[in-house]
Amino acid sequence: MISSSSDESCPAPWLRDMRKALTQVFRLNSFRTHQQQIISSAIQGKDVFVLMPTGGGKSLCYQLPAILQNHAPGVSIVVSPLLSLMQDQVHDLVCVKGIAAALLNSQMGAAHRRWVYSELKKPSSLMCLLYVTPEMLEKSKELVEALSCLYDQDRLTRFVIDEAHCVSQWGHDFRPDYKLLGNVRNRFSGVPIMALTATATPTVEADVLRCLGMQECKVFRQSFNRKNLSLEVVTKTPRSMADDIYQFIDDGRRNHSGIIYCIGRQQCESLAEELREAFGLTAEHYHAKLTPDMRNNVQREWKEGRIRIIVATIAFGMGIDKPDVRYVIHASIPSSLEGYYQEIGRAGRDGQPAVCRLYYTYRDASVHRGQIDRGGGNSTQKERLNTNLNAMIAYCENVIDCRRFLVLKYFGETFDASGCNQTCDNCLGAMNQTNITKDMTSLAIETIRLVRSVQSAGVTLLQVLDMLRGSQSKRFVDNGFLEATSYGAGKHLSRPDAERFMKHLVIMGILVEKTEYNNMGFSSAYLKVRTP
Ligand code: ADP
Ligand code: MG
Ligand code: ZN
Repeated sequence: MISSSSDESCPAPWLRDMRKALTQVFRLNSFRTHQQQIISSAIQGKDVFVLMPTGGGKSLCYQLPAILQNHAPGVSIVVSPLLSLMQDQVHDLVCVKGIAAALLNSQMGAAHRRWVYSELKKPSSLMCLLYVTPEMLEKSKELVEALSCLYDQDRLTRFVIDEAHCVSQWGHDFRPDYKLLGNVRNRFSGVPIMALTATATPTVEADVLRCLGMQECKVFRQSFNRKNLSLEVVTKTPRSMADDIYQFIDDGRRNHSGIIYCIGRQQCESLAEELREAFGLTAEHYHAKLTPDMRNNVQREWKEGRIRIIVATIAFGMGIDKPDVRYVIHASIPSSLEGYYQEIGRAGRDGQPAVCRLYYTYRDASVHRGQIDRGGGNSTQKERLNTNLNAMIAYCENVIDCRRFLVLKYFGETFDASGCNQTCDNCLGAMNQTNITKDMTSLAIETIRLVRSVQSAGVTLLQVLDMLRGSQSKRFVDNGFLEATSYGAGKHLSRPDAERFMKHLVIMGILVEKTEYNNMGFSSAYLKVRTP
């Protein structure tokens, strides 16, 4: 565990109240890692940044201090991106725990809004937690007025920014609405901020702190290692993947709950159907195009175990709190390691073993690449997305290093691979495999020369690979490619080695693949040397 906080050496007066609230209101026995220190810091009015894995118990970190301010009644404002999540939380707070909490969003009826605002105005009000969507903070004049009024009365206890990585354009889930939260610090200066996330690389973390204006804050960082998850990447053969998944499930997992992530809704629907019809499994699809009712339905059926497998796009997951998910399968490569880690984080929340399997083929990455090329955003944003994607590809292409080591390194954590205990495919494989290290620098230079001399003709990675290996194919002869600089420089390489080598150059950002469309709408990814 990494923690940058020092332990409080003398017991603070509020510790007893904290413990009482924990057992009597939240009905929990003990604090989990960092919770006590985080809550203490919050009560002392400090800015706090919390990095805690999904399921670690972030909500308690702001809910508990919110109810502890009886002597100085005030309201904590919680900003969260997902309405359904906030609804669940508020329902639980009010109906189960008896805490006065409320929710405001733009779709709510006028009567409810009026009630909330009138409560906020009463100095004697018991309301201590108000959940709002980020756009409400920006767009609702009424809300901003109510907050200003609280602020003037010194009743604005703190701002809580949940899923704080959404603030950063470097994150995998940037939300424009979140960007505007930076104004909170200026408008309500002196009000402490607590930012929480389960996913932040050092870059994202620094960016979040900067955007929110949290200069001197306490940072609580927990190890991201999830010991009970085993990690594997398998080579994907699209034709046999459904069989393969079936075998995986049939192997003692028929009565286990699992999630299969797909890249698009079409793949979700067809894979779910195949698992149902051909193999008799209880699988249902889930994606953003379903009506909210349908989505809630599928989710409930799955949560309660009547459907075992949910085949979903990444629309599914945020706020899913099912403890016994025994496997998460990715039927295609995700677009970033951050996203990937968050998705597999939904497995094994009960601490029992769970398997995370990723079906990988380089070809799937080009779907993301195409989306990035076609999508909105300026060139800097596209560059970031490509960098994130490259890191994900590099992870999949790596068949040597411990996967735990690789993921944790990405999150800025050092992990000794000997602690993996063969719970990833690469550590397992290392037992019967020897690796040879070779310096490929000069071949890399030759390859760049080759690409430079042929790129204007529009060539794909696989074509360059053949040229590098000195193919005498008629196409290449006819095009005059054989005269190109460095043609055949990699004659000695086997095809798989040459392919890995070329992909490595792409992952490193030395070569880039640019998606282009012909007038029939078909796309090809053309290889170019990156121009700075
Ligand atoms: P996160 O937001 O970090 O993903 P949540 O706040 O939703 O996690 O909490 C996940 C689960 O852990 C919830 O069911 C919650 O009740 C439980 N939990 C939180 N803190 C504790 C604790 N100290 N002891 C036991 N369970 C806890
Ligand atoms: Mg949470
Ligand atoms: Zn390992």
